[in-house]
Amino acid sequence: MTIKPDYDLIIIGGGPAGLTAGVYAMRARLKCLLIEKMVPGGSALITDWVENYPGFPDGISGADLTDRFIKQAKRFGLKIENEAAEALWLDDGLKKISTDQRLITAASVIIASGTSPKKLGIEGEKSFYGKGVSTCATCDGLFFRDKTVAAIGGGDSAVQESIFLTKFVKKVWLIHRRDSLRAAKILQERAFKNDKIEILWDTIPKKISGKNSVETLAVQNLKTEQMKDLSIDGCFIFAGTNPNTGFMVDPIKKDENGFIYTDQNMETSVKGLFCVGDARQTPLRQIVTAAGDAAIAVMGAEKYIENFYE
Ligand code: NAP
Repeated sequence: MTIKPDYDLIIIGGGPAGLTAGVYAMRARLKCLLIEKMVPGGSALITDWVENYPGFPDGISGADLTDRFIKQAKRFGLKIENEAAEALWLDDGLKKISTDQRLITAASVIIASGTSPKKLGIEGEKSFYGKGVSTCATCDGLFFRDKTVAAIGGGDSAVQESIFLTKFVKKVWLIHRRDSLRAAKILQERAFKNDKIEILWDTIPKKISGKNSVETLAVQNLKTEQMKDLSIDGCFIFAGTNPNTGFMVDPIKKDENGFIYTDQNMETSVKGLFCVGDARQTPLRQIVTAAGDAAIAVMGAEKYIENFYE
């Protein structure tokens, strides 16, 4: 060890993975800081209802679950600061993080920075963002009471959020590029039974247009190549996610989409640097797996930190 770092452990990101890591780190009596660029909660916070996190037989809202994660972490004394990691690099045996506010150093870092919604890249998507185009049904769904909306995608988010939207809207066109959904079967069953959801199979969005806000979505059937204009008031895009891992300066092993590879201890290709939750290259992205990743990572970080100070 050369220079004493500011912290034993810095956790980047305050979603379920980061907050769970915080609980474990505080119980391990590590000097730990969690930094979060927005408000803690990650994508769980904007999930209307979580039904598959154990211990809540009737389900729990994403907001209430987040609140419980935060309370639990704070009970053990976790320090949470509202700042954004802009760069992370290795120097003098330390992990250095420059945030939008300062430079902080740590012996070990856990990346729990999650993901952001992927863009479709079609005409009108950017210009109508906030004027009918959205990636968050829980944030914006209420604006579309008794209106018609489109939801793009066939994963858990698209199907779950389409079902949620039917609480307010008159109709949801669920637009999926293939002839089967990838969402959990239970969500599919609910969507199929929901009279307000009409699925357009083998169909891709081509262009979003309107005057001051979204009015039309042009779609194309990939099998027939036929184009069709849907009259809509809103367009929700759930076409997958990109990892928030761009702040890593030094080379680190990532897949072609930027998700970070780890070993079974959640350690990345850089010693003492761990990655947990949705930003990790993993076969399953759920709150329960994020929490599990975090518990394992702190065990590894603890060992690394012990050796660091020797
Ligand atoms: P996802 O599982 O990656 O699904 C993205 C969907 O968008 C896919 O159906 C994909 O089609 C489609 N798509 C991708 N690019 C497209 C494009 N350019 N044009 C049209 N469609 C496009 O993403 P997600 O649903 O946001 O879920 C992300 C992760 O969070 C997943 O691991 C998911 O299981 C998890 N999650 C879980 C829950 C839950 O447990 N209830 C809720 C939300 C999210 P293809 O199917 O053809 O690839």
